[in-house]
Amino acid sequence: MDSSETVSKHVHTGSCLCGGVRYTINGQVRDIINCHCSLCRKFHGHFGAYTAVKTRYLTINSNSNFLAWYSSMHNDAQRGFCVICGSSLFWKLASNDTISVAAGTLDQPTGLKTVTDIYVADKADYYHLDPQLQKLEKGL
Ligand SMILES: [Zn+2]
Ligand SMILES: [Zn+2]
Repeated sequence: MDSSETVSKHVHTGSCLCGGVRYTINGQVRDIINCHCSLCRKFHGHFGAYTAVKTRYLTINSNSNFLAWYSSMHNDAQRGFCVICGSSLFWKLASNDTISVAAGTLDQPTGLKTVTDIYVADKADYYHLDPQLQKLEKGL
C-alpha cells in the first residue's frame, strides 16, 4: 500500500479564513503541486500550492453565496474565493472533472507532501525553489 492509498481512506475538510466556505473531500487527494504562474501568484499573493481531487469527491458548504468564481480573460480556468474574507480556495477548468484545492485551506493534519513545482519559468524573483522537488517549465 503506498501513501496515496493511505491518505485516500481519510476524509479531508477545509475552509476559508472566516469559515463561511467549508468543504469536505471524500476520496483520493493528490500530493501538493506548487504553481508559480503569474495568475496563481496574483490570486494567492504568492505561488499557488494545490492538491487536486475528482469533482465528485468534493462537497462545498457555502453560507449565503460566500463562494464566488473569477474567470481570468487569459484562459478558461475558474478560481473560487470567499467574498467575505478573500481566501483563495479553488481552481478548475470547465472541461475537466478534477478540481484543485488550495492546500493552505485544508484542515490539519493533511497527511500530504509537496512533490512538484510547475510553471517554474514564470516564478517571481524574491524566493528560491526547493531543489528536492520535481520541476516543470510549464503545466502538467
Ligand atoms: Zn471566508
Ligand atoms: Zn498557476
